[in-house]
Amino acid sequence: MADEEAGGAERMEVSTELPQTPQLLASWWDQQVDFYTTFLHHLAQLVPEIYSAEMDPDLEKQEESIQMSIFTPLEWYLFGEDPDICLEKLKHSGAFQLCGKVFKSGETTYSCRDCAIDPTCVLCMDCFQNSVHKNHRYKMHTSTGGGFCDCGDTEAWKTGPFCVSHEPGRAGTTKENLRCPLNEEVIAQARKIFPSVIKYIVEMTIWEEEKELLPELQIREKNERYYCVLFNDEHHSYDHVIYSLQRALDCELAEAQLHTTAIDKEGRRAVKAGAFAACQEAKEDIKSHSENVSQHPLHVEVLHSEVMAHQKFALRLGSWMNKIMSYSSDFRQIFCQACLREEPGSENPCLISRLMLWDAKLYKGARKILHELIFSSFFMEMEYKKFFAMEFVKYYKQLQKEYISDDHDRSISVTALSVQMFTVPTLARHLIEEQNVISVITETLLEVLPEYLDRNNKFNFQGYSQDKLGRVYAVICDLKYILISKPTAWTERLRMQFLEGFRSFLKILTCMQGMEEIRRQVGQHIEVDPDWEAAIAIQMQLKNILLMFQEWCACDEELLLVAYKECHKAVMRCSTSFISSSKTVVQLCGHTLETKSYRVSEDLVSIHLPLSRTLAGLHVRLSRLGAVSRLHEFVPFEDFQVEVLVEYPLRCLVLVAQVVAEMWRRNGLSLISQDLIKQYNTLIEEMLQVLIYIVGERYVPGVGNVTKEEVTMREIIHLLCIEPMPHSAIAKNLPENENNETGLENVINKVATFKKPGVSGHGVYELKDESLKDFNMYFYHYSKTQHSKAEHMQKKRRKQENKDEALPPPPPPEFCPAFSKVVNLLNCDIMMYILRIIFERAIDTDSNLWTEGMLQMAFHILALGLLEEKQQLQKAPEEEVTFDFYHKASRLGSSAMNAQNIQMLLEKLKGIPQLEGQKDMITWILQMFDTVKRLREKSCLIVATTSGSESIKNDEITHDKEKAERKRKAEAARLHRQKIMAQMSALQKNFIETHKLMYDSTSEMSGKEDSIMEEESTPAVSDYSRIALGPKRGPTVTEKEVLTCILCQEEQEVKIENNAMVLSACVQKSTALTQNRGKPIELSGETVDPLFMDPDLAYGTYTGSCGHVMHAVCWQKYFEAVQLSSQQRIHVDLFDLESGEYLCPLCKSLCNTVIPIIPLQPQRINSENAEALAQLLTLAQWIQTVLARISGYNMKHAKGENPTIPVLLDQGMGDSTFEFHSILSFGIQPSIKYSNSIKEMVILFATTIYRIGLKVPPDETDPRIPMMTWSTCAFTIQAIENLLGDEGKPLFGALQNRQHNGLKALMQFAIAQKITCPQVLIQKHLVRLLSVVLPNLKSEDTPCLLSIDLFHVLVGAVLAFPSLYWDDTVDLQPSSISSSYNHLYLFHLITMAHMLQILLTIDTDLPLAQVQEESEEARSASSFLAEVSQYTNGCIGCGVPGWYLWVSLKNGITPYLRCAALFFHYLLGVTPPEELLTNPAEGEYSALCSYLSLPTNLFLLFQEYWDTVRPLLQRWCADPALLHCLKQKNTIVRYPRKRNSLIELPDDYSCLLNQASHFRCPRSADDERKHPVLCLFCGAILCSQNICCQEIVNGEEVGACIFHALHCGAGVCIFLKIRECRVVLVEGKARGCAYPAPYLDEYGETDPGLKRGNPLHLSRERYRKLHLVWQQHCIIEEIARSQETNQMLFGFNWQLL
Ligand SMILES: [Zn+2]
Ligand SMILES: [Zn+2]
Ligand SMILES: [Zn+2]
Ligand SMILES: [Zn+2]
Ligand SMILES: [Zn+2]
Ligand SMILES: [Zn+2]
Ligand SMILES: [Zn+2]
Repeated sequence: MADEEAGGAERMEVSTELPQTPQLLASWWDQQVDFYTTFLHHLAQLVPEIYSAEMDPDLEKQEESIQMSIFTPLEWYLFGEDPDICLEKLKHSGAFQLCGKVFKSGETTYSCRDCAIDPTCVLCMDCFQNSVHKNHRYKMHTSTGGGFCDCGDTEAWKTGPFCVSHEPGRAGTTKENLRCPLNEEVIAQARKIFPSVIKYIVEMTIWEEEKELLPELQIREKNERYYCVLFNDEHHSYDHVIYSLQRALDCELAEAQLHTTAIDKEGRRAVKAGAFAACQEAKEDIKSHSENVSQHPLHVEVLHSEVMAHQKFALRLGSWMNKIMSYSSDFRQIFCQACLREEPGSENPCLISRLMLWDAKLYKGARKILHELIFSSFFMEMEYKKFFAMEFVKYYKQLQKEYISDDHDRSISVTALSVQMFTVPTLARHLIEEQNVISVITETLLEVLPEYLDRNNKFNFQGYSQDKLGRVYAVICDLKYILISKPTAWTERLRMQFLEGFRSFLKILTCMQGMEEIRRQVGQHIEVDPDWEAAIAIQMQLKNILLMFQEWCACDEELLLVAYKECHKAVMRCSTSFISSSKTVVQLCGHTLETKSYRVSEDLVSIHLPLSRTLAGLHVRLSRLGAVSRLHEFVPFEDFQVEVLVEYPLRCLVLVAQVVAEMWRRNGLSLISQDLIKQYNTLIEEMLQVLIYIVGERYVPGVGNVTKEEVTMREIIHLLCIEPMPHSAIAKNLPENENNETGLENVINKVATFKKPGVSGHGVYELKDESLKDFNMYFYHYSKTQHSKAEHMQKKRRKQENKDEALPPPPPPEFCPAFSKVVNLLNCDIMMYILRIIFERAIDTDSNLWTEGMLQMAFHILALGLLEEKQQLQKAPEEEVTFDFYHKASRLGSSAMNAQNIQMLLEKLKGIPQLEGQKDMITWILQMFDTVKRLREKSCLIVATTSGSESIKNDEITHDKEKAERKRKAEAARLHRQKIMAQMSALQKNFIETHKLMYDSTSEMSGKEDSIMEEESTPAVSDYSRIALGPKRGPTVTEKEVLTCILCQEEQEVKIENNAMVLSACVQKSTALTQNRGKPIELSGETVDPLFMDPDLAYGTYTGSCGHVMHAVCWQKYFEAVQLSSQQRIHVDLFDLESGEYLCPLCKSLCNTVIPIIPLQPQRINSENAEALAQLLTLAQWIQTVLARISGYNMKHAKGENPTIPVLLDQGMGDSTFEFHSILSFGIQPSIKYSNSIKEMVILFATTIYRIGLKVPPDETDPRIPMMTWSTCAFTIQAIENLLGDEGKPLFGALQNRQHNGLKALMQFAIAQKITCPQVLIQKHLVRLLSVVLPNLKSEDTPCLLSIDLFHVLVGAVLAFPSLYWDDTVDLQPSSISSSYNHLYLFHLITMAHMLQILLTIDTDLPLAQVQEESEEARSASSFLAEVSQYTNGCIGCGVPGWYLWVSLKNGITPYLRCAALFFHYLLGVTPPEELLTNPAEGEYSALCSYLSLPTNLFLLFQEYWDTVRPLLQRWCADPALLHCLKQKNTIVRYPRKRNSLIELPDDYSCLLNQASHFRCPRSADDERKHPVLCLFCGAILCSQNICCQEIVNGEEVGACIFHALHCGAGVCIFLKIRECRVVLVEGKARGCAYPAPYLDEYGETDPGLKRGNPLHLSRERYRKLHLVWQQHCIIEEIARSQETNQMLFGFNWQLL
């Protein structure tokens, strides 16, 4: 088509005859000459249409049209064929070399401490998991967003730059097809398309309100539709924006909120559409409503609808470009070239720079996409990254200035990209060499900081803006990035440019040297303290940069010397005022010093001396390089002027001393009343301290002959001399280098040993004994408190080891030659004078111008001097050693009559009683004098040795004497300690006695129990005594129970006729045993029938107790008092009083009720009578009797109504010889009478169980109350049995006191519970229970055998059975003999039912490899099953080997037998067999059988009762419901039930993080940060603390976790917050607490919040402990206790977790 046609004609054509398919459109484009114009025309046509609905868009439709009408044609045009096919090909053509994944905020990143060039080099999780670094020392971090993965960047890693998936040449790709997988045509097309695309994007992004559309885009009638667009800023609060919008637009709150949320997320939003005038009006309204005195108005613009549409599309086009570029390196390069091309003849920068420069004006959403565009193009291609970096540096100043005045976060500023470029070593070098980037950065600083300059050209940050200064730090940070890796090779140009940068940097330091001078205010009160924070903060920021500059300088001797010269000049320039000030002369000890006069306490002084610091650092480096000798070539001696150099640092030290002496107290007036003597003394101490540091602290490489390692070691030693410390505490106290490393790991094991943590607490390092000798009391990094702590610790230790208490300095390392003259300070006349004066003052009884601390320091200096001389003497011949400390110290200071030398003074000091504590140190020094003296004399005269040895001998004698004396004292001290310890332990015992805390050791308990049993049972240990059921049942072992009330401390015996005593208790719902986790729970139990328990035990009711006893009356008073106090003050809701919650007064466990304590009723039967009765009362007869009784009741009550009582099956009932009263003939006794107080408590407790167990309002008359009592008894026993099994503990004898007391009280309560309701009611329940196991009894609602838990049936039936003895007139209950038969037969019947249950559900799919010998039991099993299978029409397993049946049965039934044993024991008090008290090994099964009157071959039960049981078996098996159950293979419950445990966690924590990173919220698609939380019960991952996943429960909003907990744990749950590595326990809606996660780093520490980022591994012990907290039902208790201890944390809204 000819293109010289008029624009109008073409316009027509475009609009009417647009080719219909993408393919055709593409080929039509192909015919056009000018793609740019054609493309824009196309967009002009479509974009405004597609994006017309700005206010309420249909996003899916928009996307579809864009794809169809723009992107697909573009792709066709690009590839010349079907893009889908083409892209698929490209995808397989090779992986990229760089990963380049851009991190979202909250994502976990990894860096390798062994291999990363610097800590900014990070990997994404996928790359990390596939890399070698997984097994190195790594760190985990949480990204703040914006960075990207460095995998594949060979410059970022010392080793292993590629992960497995980014390795070049992987999967058959060669370098060639990786580089150019595209044919020439495609490349040519790309060169046509990409420039147009980027140009359009830039044109549309860089937009100003008044601008007109590009002419190419103005092909349509211009409509009159505008938008009023509101932009995000960081100044206005959320609420303020909502308020302004509501006012200005007169809209609903919800709409305003919607706008505000979108603005916050995207950065801008159209809030009104309409004609220009209307939008303009809205704009003014919003502005005026959002403006006030302190705030600018909101940023609002009115934009034409087409502009909005094109801007939107431009960003979409950017994302499309990202996608296309991800396929090929060629695409990326072509795109980059297009971005970098400068328009010929235009002043404009290239396109990418224009975008960069516009960055600060853009809104959030646009910036994000544009930065991504840069990441996916320039940053993926090393060469173009360099070009980009050069553009970036070109505009660096401008960009930073704009960033500083911008109000957006740094993470979304283009300036944040600096780290990606500056930290790449080759790039950094290039930028320094070619663009002088160091100077660029420092000059930027100098340009943005002037507003803080005062008239002396020094910084002054008074009244600074914290936000702005924070932004300046970003520039300082860039300096750090540029310097982070030292160059390995230097070029002349690099050297030159670096030096220029260094000079420029010195200019900044010059502005800081001496900044913010202060003057001590005397005599007037200062209202406002000067603001020192900003200045200090900026110094801290520069700290590492100073060091890095020094390191760079030290790369090369020449460079260092030049830098030194520059720095020296700078210091001198800053010292002019000093040089010009007037002089004074000071004289001392015959020495004269001419100096400038200056008084810190009166004149101006500054603490900021970065130039001096830098110079000092360079000096040390000179010394290390050995280049000091050449210094004079650069700085002539006469210019050096050391007195000028030290002047300012000395002033600073004096200032520090004065501050310590409290001379700089804020309130100047206090000066008058100040204690001048104390002040002087402190100043002297400070001076001595400085002297000690100068002569003694040589632990800097270059100052002393030490290595870096030795320095770190010494730091660690001194930390550990204070106390053993965990790794993190040591690391925090050590200085970090620019790579955030302390070097700790390399040396710690040389000086310390690691002590592993227990199940709580953390691991610590303890100092090795051999390192103790290195302790220096005046270690220069000690704070005052650390110093005294360490001194105290070390003295204590020496005392314990029976050593003297002297703590002399360790011999210091030698000075480097450059500093070797420093030791002469020790040796000079002035030092001697100082020491002597101090000692003389101490001896002078009238003087108070001395302190013990001062003396200690003087001793320390003395010791240093002697050590120095000793070392020198040991190294060189005596005559060569000029250091004559000994000589000077033993010389008289003057010729005065009473003159004394230092040695004599020391002898005198020894005699001063106040200095007792220093005696050992003085002795040590005197011995040292002798040693040095002998070393001096050794070489002189042999004659002298005699006298010498004499003196040594004398010495030894006195030494021995002292030793003996010390020993005597030590012995006396030991005895004294012993006495105190004895008193302490007596107290402790007392305390334990009186406060029986909940965690009483179990061994103690079992011991006690044993001894009682022995006493009771020794007289008649006969065979029958340890059987609980049937005619041979043993006697009840009762003891007189006298308990102490924890509230009133009074004792009382527990008796049924006494006032009640109660046990504090907590009833809770539990899923601890569930076989069907997550089963839907009834939110209210109004309609639930809890008589039968499902075999899956999904939701049980657990009753626990902390075991603490109170009088019922005392407890009631206590509870009322708590209620009252909570009404009076505003109390945080620790517990819910409404539902009866309170904290146990003693142990602060959360309780919600009390259990009345009722004594066991002693029962003893005459076994001969009982045996005789056995003849009469067979099982068959017993059943007949029971049935007769039931049918009798039936006839009595069933007058017309009573449909719930089941109909008796007619079998043999007609002519029964058994009648209604025959049940009574086997023995009866009157019912027990309980005191009213006990009755009251029984009702209270029973109602609580009912209320909590069913989640219903309390109702004392509800017929389900007894059912709930039985249910909690059964469930609590099952839970405890399960726990004992889990822990491998014996059934009896290993229970905790609280469990033992709880069970005992619970069972006895359950017996008594029947008195609180009508017996008819209990009978009704009983009949329903019996209908399961009595052959002739079945009602409509009798559940099938496989849908009930038989232990619950057993407990219910046994507890309800006495109701059959009830008569209208007399209150009767079965006698002991009757009971024992009732129990026996009920138990036998139910056991047989359970056996059938087990056999029916045996998992026969399991491999049956192992063949065992056929035992008698196995044969019984086979034949029994053969019989049963007839009744089920062969539905269940024939052909299963008998041994397998028997083994399965035995395993399956054991938990039930153990539960039954616990139940009958606590019900009847019959002593269990020995085997059940010790370990749960071999003998357990037969002991259980014996205790429960069962044959060990359980099948014998069926044989014995065959005739009676057969009809029952038939009925059970023929039940259609049962057959139906059997078919439901996956929901069927098998026995033994599986034991629940917390989910398996991976050993390596990063696996969990990995999982979390793949987590997608099921409800929302946005990429906002999520808080994935793992349920440790079931393994579900939830979206926590987010509105998207909230649920409504009972009209209240609850978070995803709380909602999940409702079903998963019946309200109680344990979660792991994955991103934070924190465990949380929750209960109900409003309660929860944090708990240490079971993950530890290699130093035995947890890392909540992943702050340290060390690799974490699962601690099995800790996870096990957490498991037990759950299984012991202690979660609620943990929460209550943690809330009690840290009420601070209460702000958290647990409900929304
Ligand atoms: Zn990666
Ligand atoms: Zn990778
Ligand atoms: Zn590594
Ligand atoms: Zn009491
Ligand atoms: Zn308690
Ligand atoms: Zn769960
Ligand atoms: Zn969600």
